[in-house]
Amino acid sequence: MAKLDDLLEDLVTANRVLASQGIVDSFGHVSIRHPGNPMRYFLSRARAPERVEIGDIMEFTLEGDPVDAKGRRPYLERFIHGAAYEMRPDVMSVIHNHSPGVIPFGITGRTMRPVMHMCATIGHEVPIWDQHTKFGDTNLLVESMAMGRDLAKKLGKGRTALMRGHGAVVVGPDLRATVYTAVYLELNAKLQMQAEAMSKKVKFLTKGETKLVAATTTPANVNRAWENWCRKADRPYKE
Ligand SMILES: [Zn+2]
Repeated sequence: MAKLDDLLEDLVTANRVLASQGIVDSFGHVSIRHPGNPMRYFLSRARAPERVEIGDIMEFTLEGDPVDAKGRRPYLERFIHGAAYEMRPDVMSVIHNHSPGVIPFGITGRTMRPVMHMCATIGHEVPIWDQHTKFGDTNLLVESMAMGRDLAKKLGKGRTALMRGHGAVVVGPDLRATVYTAVYLELNAKLQMQAEAMSKKVKFLTKGETKLVAATTTPANVNRAWENWCRKADRPYKE
């Protein structure tokens, strides 16, 4: 149980870190799969991530039903999380955000690719999900499992996907690695925009380089960033 308590505290920290790093604002959310029950996940009640506290964390079935809501209102777009966990047994954490840098890449036909080594975990080519293809005109929110599953399919085996006119979804093998990828997805977007404004011949990381760098991004690398981000977000750091 102590381990679960630590994980849930880490989930609160992840909310604060993502806010402090500008990856989420008053909107966006982060979840973890239940370490002892792969059919459940934990996600805050509907609240700005910067304000999330331990009492806000709710448990959900993969279908998005609260296990014990206790009067708390869940996020409308929680289906993004459950559908990703359902489709990908390897995924232990999911982030959905609308960070400003990624938006242009969802609407211009410009493909996002890693421009520097720190950004390799975003994958060699970031796919774009357009909800309009299957669902026509909508309010753009992922408010059903059908939409969540369609989005999860777009992830394929990768860690990131953009959502046209909306934002992004990031998945990973653990919470901290997923936050790391979300932070560097946003940085990559900014750097790629700068590079492409300077030259039409931007040299991206090759497929092989992307794979090699991602494979050598260790928990020690991620923890170095995590400790720093915890301090900035005024949260305790635990290795
Ligand atoms: Zn959203």
